[in-house]
Amino acid sequence: MNFSDLELDDVLLNAVEQQGYTKPTVIQQLAIPPALDGKDILASAATGTGKTAGFVLPALQHILDYPRGRTNGVRILILSPTRELAEQTYKVAKQLSCFTEANCAIITGGINYGKHKDISDGLVDILVATPGRLLEYIENETFDCRDIEWLVLDEADRMLDMGFGQIIEKIGAETQWRKQTLLFSATLEGKGVESFANKFLTDPVLVEA
Ligand code: AMP
Repeated sequence: MNFSDLELDDVLLNAVEQQGYTKPTVIQQLAIPPALDGKDILASAATGTGKTAGFVLPALQHILDYPRGRTNGVRILILSPTRELAEQTYKVAKQLSCFTEANCAIITGGINYGKHKDISDGLVDILVATPGRLLEYIENETFDCRDIEWLVLDEADRMLDMGFGQIIEKIGAETQWRKQTLLFSATLEGKGVESFANKFLTDPVLVEA
């Protein structure tokens, strides 16, 4: 399978080419089509499998397919366990969106509040965030989840291990009007991930890379 078989716009194919990706990885081949079909995804994929592009590419395609209406909030929320992973994911989102008009932003601990101000003001399409800091923003009403269409939980097992379960549940409740949820985890075993999957996903497509 080639990237051109994946029903992605040329602006995304050009970005993929610019990154030097020649063929989609297994997780990309398996996750992108159902994600574009509107399905929830439950994916077991370790770091290094290309999982990030596996959710960033369909997210960007969703933004291209469904232009923003009168809303001005964040449309795609990606939760990452650590600041480092959030930064990496943000970088991938910036790279893959470089030929589109999609705006990406990041909220993590350690980045000062001032810099985050544009998130509420300015038409951010994709936000990458760590759970703790995002919840602070929600609770002090600096950030509003009302326009979120997709919630991506990246490295869900790690987020649970780090004790973010309750915070993610709160964020899940705040984003209850979303259309799609994608959960990526190195392992799908263990009560935590299973109960997360049951709580957050509706009739998910199981993807194992
Ligand atoms: P990830 O698992 O998302 O952390 O990605 C691991 C590495 O694979 C990153 O350095 C990506 O730039 C790279 N990568 C992602 N997709 C592809 C692809 N289709 N072909 C080659 N490299 C890729």
